[in-house]
Amino acid sequence: MAVPLDPGLYIVATPIGNLGDLSPRAADILSRADLVACEDTRVTAKLLRHVGARVPMRPYHDHSDKAARDDLVARAGTQAVVLVSDAGTPLISDPGFKLVRAARAAGRHIVTLPGPCAAVAALTLAGLPTDRFLFLGFLPSKEKARADAIAEVAAIRASLVLYESGPRLGATLAALTAELGERPAAVAREVSKAFEECVTGTLGELAVRYADAPPRGEIVIVVGPPDAAPQAGDVDAMLAAALERMPAAKAAGEVARATGVPRAELYARALALKAR
Ligand code: SAM
Repeated sequence: MAVPLDPGLYIVATPIGNLGDLSPRAADILSRADLVACEDTRVTAKLLRHVGARVPMRPYHDHSDKAARDDLVARAGTQAVVLVSDAGTPLISDPGFKLVRAARAAGRHIVTLPGPCAAVAALTLAGLPTDRFLFLGFLPSKEKARADAIAEVAAIRASLVLYESGPRLGATLAALTAELGERPAAVAREVSKAFEECVTGTLGELAVRYADAPPRGEIVIVVGPPDAAPQAGDVDAMLAAALERMPAAKAAGEVARATGVPRAELYARALALKAR
C-alpha cells in the first residue's frame, strides 16, 4: 500500500509530446494523488493509464466558477490535489494561476514538480541569446491588437518567445517582421515528437517561407533581441573614422551618442588609437 501524500496542491508538469519525458517523481505523485484537476479528462486519462494510476479526475479551467475553485482549495486542506494541464507546465499559457493564488491565500501547502515547458525547450534549440528572454504566450489574433502587442515590446533587449499555431504562423511572422525588422529568429515545431524541427533565419525569411505553407503541429517562435551592444571592433572603426574628421574629445562624444558607450571610455580608446 503506497504511503499517502501530505495534503496540499501539487502542480505537476507533464510531457509536451514524448511520454518518456514524464519524470518518475511526477508519475509517483500522480499515482498517489487523491484527485487530479485537469483541462480535458480524456487527455489526462491517457496519462494516468500510462503510469497505471487509478485516480478520480475533475475538469478545471481558470474560467471555472469560483465554487469549483473554492472546492479544490478546500480539498487541498485534507487531500493531495494534483493540477495538470493537457501538456507541459500548468499556468504557462494554461489554467492554474487563479487556483494557485486562491490556495496560497488559504495557506495551503503548495508543491511544484518542474518538467517540460515548450517555451524553455524552444529556447534551448534556437541558438539565440538566453540570458534575458520575455515570454509573450499567444499574441492577440486581431491584426491591430497583435501589432500593438509587438510594438509594446520592440525596444526590450531580450529574446522574445511566443506560442503560435500552424495556420496563424505566416501572419504572425509577417507582423513581427513589420514591427521589429530583420531580427534573427527560430521556429521550433513538434518539440520532443517524431517530427521535431527548428528552422532558423531572419524574421523576413521565415515569414516568406511560411506565408503560403502553414506547417502542421505545435509551434514556438523565438526572436532574437534588438541589435546587441556594439562590439569593440565596431567601436574602434567608428572612432578611427571620426578621428579623421575631428579631435579625440569630439570624436569620443560623437561615437558615444551613436553607440551608448560611455564618453570617457571612448576618449581613452581614441587617444590609444591616435598613439598607434
Ligand atoms: N503549458 C504548456 C507549456 O508548458 O509549454 C503550453 C500550453 S499552450 C496552451 C500550447 C502551446 O504550446 C502550443 O500551441 C504551442 O505553441 C506550444 N507547444 C506545446 N507543445 C509543443 C511542442 N511539442 N512543440 C512546440 N510547441 C509546443
